[in-house]
Amino acid sequence: MILLPFDCINIIFNFLPWSSRTKMVSRELLYTGLRPQRRLRRWKSLMRIYSYMRVFGTGFSNRTWSGFCQQLEIRRRKRNRHGRLSWRAAARHHMSTSCKACGKRHCALVYDRIPLCVWCRHNRRLKYAYMIRVCDARAMGVPRHILRRIPYHASMGCRLRFWHHVLQATQLYRRNVLESAQCVDIGTSTESMPRWPH
Ligand SMILES: [Zn+2]
Repeated sequence: MILLPFDCINIIFNFLPWSSRTKMVSRELLYTGLRPQRRLRRWKSLMRIYSYMRVFGTGFSNRTWSGFCQQLEIRRRKRNRHGRLSWRAAARHHMSTSCKACGKRHCALVYDRIPLCVWCRHNRRLKYAYMIRVCDARAMGVPRHILRRIPYHASMGCRLRFWHHVLQATQLYRRNVLESAQCVDIGTSTESMPRWPH
């Protein structure tokens, strides 16, 4: 198979919408891109390499679990489910207890499974980490019945919900209302109430 250099692929990506960019990333392309050994500094890059190592293996990512732990400044191995000490278990423990967005250690678990720190929860620039309070959502015009359908995380006397969940639910509600209105106009259906997924 003939592969284009990674730089050329990046230039081509710049002219494409995001959905097409992700479709074009194949296993071979990732393998070529991950070949050079680089020092990873940003949390985003560490998260990406960690997911590649979990999905494709260490050989494919051209890294070892002990080397990865060194970058994360992990000094001791952890016991895996078979009771053996391993660097992989140590890396897994570190990644599952650090903030998903910034890498800060020892932060609260949102919905009992997603570690997110207070700063990331209130950072509007983080699309999938930003959480909104009930009063803010109400001020933005989100109906109360939509908020009731979304699970919340209680923190410092506030009920926080992920902004992208609120946005998704609002869009779904609007689409359902519009669809129902059209059905009523045409007279093909007697259903007038919006449908919610259960
Ligand atoms: Zn954070």
